[in-house]
Amino acid sequence: MADTLAIEGRAYVKGSYRWAVNGETFPSISPVNGRELAQVASCDKADADKAVAIARKVFERGDWRELAPIKRKAVLIRFAELIEAHGDELALLDTLDMGKPISHARTVDVPATARAIRWTAEAIDKVYGELAPTPHNQIGMISREPMGVVAAIVPWNFPMIMAAWKIAPALATGNSVILKPSEKSPLTAIRLAALATEAGIPDGVFNVLPGFGHTVGKALALHMDVDCLVFTGSTNVAKQLMVYAGQSNMKRVWLEAGGKSPNIVFADAPDLKKAAAEAASAIAFNQGEVCTAGSRLLVEESVRTEFVGLIREALKTWRPGHPLDPATTCGAIVDQAQLDRIIDYIGIGQSEGAKLVEGGQRVMAETGGLFVQPTVFDGVNNRMRIASEEIFGPVLSVIGFTTAEEAIEIANDSIYGLAAAVWTSNINTAHKVAKALRAGSVWINHYDGGDMTAPFGGFKQSGNGRDKSLHAFDKYTELKATWLVLE
Ligand code: NAD
Repeated sequence: MADTLAIEGRAYVKGSYRWAVNGETFPSISPVNGRELAQVASCDKADADKAVAIARKVFERGDWRELAPIKRKAVLIRFAELIEAHGDELALLDTLDMGKPISHARTVDVPATARAIRWTAEAIDKVYGELAPTPHNQIGMISREPMGVVAAIVPWNFPMIMAAWKIAPALATGNSVILKPSEKSPLTAIRLAALATEAGIPDGVFNVLPGFGHTVGKALALHMDVDCLVFTGSTNVAKQLMVYAGQSNMKRVWLEAGGKSPNIVFADAPDLKKAAAEAASAIAFNQGEVCTAGSRLLVEESVRTEFVGLIREALKTWRPGHPLDPATTCGAIVDQAQLDRIIDYIGIGQSEGAKLVEGGQRVMAETGGLFVQPTVFDGVNNRMRIASEEIFGPVLSVIGFTTAEEAIEIANDSIYGLAAAVWTSNINTAHKVAKALRAGSVWINHYDGGDMTAPFGGFKQSGNGRDKSLHAFDKYTELKATWLVLE
């Protein structure tokens, strides 16, 4: 399938594929083997202007917004079904485009994308407005209205899931949407657009503009007629988007940004072997290119040496392999720049005095692909750059601690606050630590739990607002208070 798959690289506006107004393209290069997969439309301001005008027009006309929630629900459920029906193709596109193992693309990314859309669609005809507690002769109605034109800018690590977390609630609440995928992984977003039309989403309601951040991304963020900008990506770009909003129309800006999540293991963890297996997965799954990667492993000193041994053992099941081999668990790094960044940080860790105990090398270079070994540094100090900066690769920093207070202090000593985990058999320690952690998600005795039913997002410089759950609707709707005084 990989050899014969027809790959679309054009933008999608008003229900059809088209090249960028300026005619420019850029190549999508596979990190699996360096092969050019497609030429992709390199959209710019002219494309943003066009797509926003169309999105605005259909919004005002009410083609989608005025449909009864039950009808929008039916269309979105059909969209989810089509994603499942095209699961092999979509999984393959993501694997070829950004290097994740095909087995994960097929069993994680595709089902999670469909679930995000289905769950949100199913909710939309079950959420009610409110009535204010008024005097007898008054009626105060509190309702939610769609924002209008939503621009969604997403990253490359989970191209479909990150898009689905935005477009599902944005579309469910009746907005028009312009999705800008990462230039490093645009292919599934482009394919999803046609599936949305096939599902019955009216033309112009869901548009996809591939291209670079500093061109089409910036144009959308500065656009005077975009009402809401939702983003997942790095903290630096997130901050820039707030500036763009302030320089333009004060559009609502919702940001899911970076992380440096602490995974805290106490000596009394219920099962140290299981904790080590999950700690390995927390840094090696998706090649460590995960915003919630458990990249700071805090281990109680009395079990630190034993635990590092267990992690090294567990990492044997996370050796890099060909992403199209169904047995592969750790795939290719998205591109050369990201691989260079990871290798640089491994060098930085060594020069900072941390002890490299596992991995540290680029491997399989002869395949033309971009692979690096999952890497473990022991004896890390939280002030080292490998412990404070987001690497976004499979590089783990092990930091020792002796008391719960010290663990909390180290864990919270970060500009980020996306996620954290705590492993202990003591219910008091578990809750005391969970309460003290400044993070949007806290996991007890496992890593990376949660579901569409739980909100996801960050404290501090990990972002604002929440994806998933009914809380996500807050981002895509304005609250209106309509007050009536009876004669
Ligand atoms: P990135 O910030 O470089 O890019 C994200 C998106 O922003 C891309 O589509 C890019 O083209 C666009 N962009 C870049 N500069 C822009 C600009 N000036 N104006 C408008 N758009 C611009 O991030 P990335 O490298 O694609 O992804 C990795 C980052 O994403 C990591 O920091 C990771 O933690 C974060 N992430 C966060 C979450 C979360 O939910 N908190 C989830 C996944 C990834």
